[in-house]
Amino acid sequence: MRFTDRKAVVTGGGSGIGRVIALKFASEGAAVGVLDIDIDAAKSVVSEIEAAGGSGAAFALDVGDAEAVAATMKDVAEALDGLGILVNNAGITRDNLLIRMSPDDWDLVLKVNLKGAFNCTRAAVRPMMSARWGRIINIASVIGQMGNVGQANYAASKAGLIALTKTTAREFASRNITANAIAPGFIQTPMTERLSEKVIEGLSDKILLKRLGRPDDVANLVAFLASDDADYITGQTINVDGGMAW
Ligand code: NAP
Repeated sequence: MRFTDRKAVVTGGGSGIGRVIALKFASEGAAVGVLDIDIDAAKSVVSEIEAAGGSGAAFALDVGDAEAVAATMKDVAEALDGLGILVNNAGITRDNLLIRMSPDDWDLVLKVNLKGAFNCTRAAVRPMMSARWGRIINIASVIGQMGNVGQANYAASKAGLIALTKTTAREFASRNITANAIAPGFIQTPMTERLSEKVIEGLSDKILLKRLGRPDDVANLVAFLASDDADYITGQTINVDGGMAW
């Protein structure tokens, strides 16, 4: 029970990796704010948490909407009686070759994946500063390190998120707040379910461990980085990719 008395917030917590992160925190004692643009998905994760004996609260939130983020983070901190751990996990793809990518698709992906993390960090860091303890964990991607055909917007957003993580680490270290990024490879979630079997086979060939990752593989590292065992780790990007990008 590494998170007894801790309060954690997970954006995009209604599905995929975010759902498993929220369940993991709750199973180890944290009260968890599950934030998602899809409120029904967030509520269903909170029901799972409560059914397992944990504690959580669901909130509808578009992380790209700065005003809504500021108001919701206040509500979350009130509902949980504090806020010490933020996982910026909400993310989307709108893939197309650069030459065919619309400016709207560029803007939307940057707005959710990068500005969303900025909005949430800006709002959630206040209670962490008051408490002189905090953990910010940003879910980036190997694509932000490698680039990928058809993902100019996504790759740029995740590379930006890695730079945002380093700056966050520098600005808040004196308040005992750490900030780290995780770069997952290809993880089995609704986001990757849309890929064809042929593409998945091709991807698996590039992975040393010869399988796609599971949300648990990412959630285990999130939990470690949020725990007291990771007190002396900040500003880092750690890959969870089965040996894909290095
Ligand atoms: P997912 O299953 O699609 O889950 C993402 C969740 O975020 C969904 O519940 C989604 O709601 C929600 N969301 C979308 N836009 C939002 C917004 N504006 N505000 C708040 N919530 C929003 O995806 P996932 O695979 O778990 O991905 C989670 C994170 O890991 C993302 O940042 C992704 O880029 C990153 N990642 C994933 C992989 C992978 O292989 N799966 C690899 C590297 C990195 P809707 O379903 O209603 O859109």
